Amino acid sequence: MSDSPRVVLVTGASRGIGAACAAAFADQGDVVIGLSRSDGEPHQGVEHRTLDVLNAQDVASTFDEIEGAHGSIDVLVANAGITRDQLSIRMSDEEFSEVIEMNLTATFRVMRRALKRMVRQRSGRIIVISSIGAFMGLPGQANYAASKAGLIGMARAMAREVASRSITINVIAPGLIATDMTSVLGEDRLAAMATQVPAGRLGQPEEIAGTALFLASPSASYITGAIIAVDGGLGMGL
Ligand code: NAP
Repeated sequence: MSDSPRVVLVTGASRGIGAACAAAFADQGDVVIGLSRSDGEPHQGVEHRTLDVLNAQDVASTFDEIEGAHGSIDVLVANAGITRDQLSIRMSDEEFSEVIEMNLTATFRVMRRALKRMVRQRSGRIIVISSIGAFMGLPGQANYAASKAGLIGMARAMAREVASRSITINVIAPGLIATDMTSVLGEDRLAAMATQVPAGRLGQPEEIAGTALFLASPSASYITGAIIAVDGGLGMGL
């Protein structure tokens, strides 16, 4: 990968971890396109495009437009994700499949599309945002844990397919990070959960962004199929 400004695509960039990743790449001078359904407040240098990643046709046309305007995508941060927590015995088929469709199937679709050009240009970086929940299997998250564990196997299968083309695909497994996704749990529950984290606190979205920057940097050229936990030690040993 060259050091010159790269074209970086971040899904789920309107807030939280995706917004922090988009901002971090923009701050280092890359051309950054953030994709999500709502705009959020894009950081300076981040171009926002409206996209629902569940819509396969819109994904295809958005990629066509971006490649038409900016050329090949060098880095994809596949970050968009949702939770629909519910105890398994109460979880509906819809609640299960909605999370799989969004976190796993839609992520596959975006990665597959990005890889088409990366394979031709024989370079590229994909960073997939999974979760420590993939290993820990937290109660109420059978759907989410399945989707996030699925991402790991999927990312590794795809990483093997394209490794000889100088394309790396790596997974970040965040722990408990302070975003809208976790704020719904409420302050008391979050404080209780923080006591389980060896670092004794929630992580910040910027701490995930720092790892994404590293995985997209020349220093990470020989790392592929890796899972990097950024979790204050929460999943240590798993
Ligand atoms: P968040 O604050 O809820 O943000 C989720 C992002 O995904 C938003 O930008 C949202 O934008 C986007 N999104 C949701 N559905 C979408 C769709 N159909 N099409 C396009 N974009 C969509 O969540 P977060 O905490 O930053 O989480 C980001 C990723 O990290 C997720 O994959 C999550 O599973 C993972 N993660 C988070 C934590 C944590 O503790 N926060 C821990 C482990 C893993 P719009 O609503 O505007 O579309």
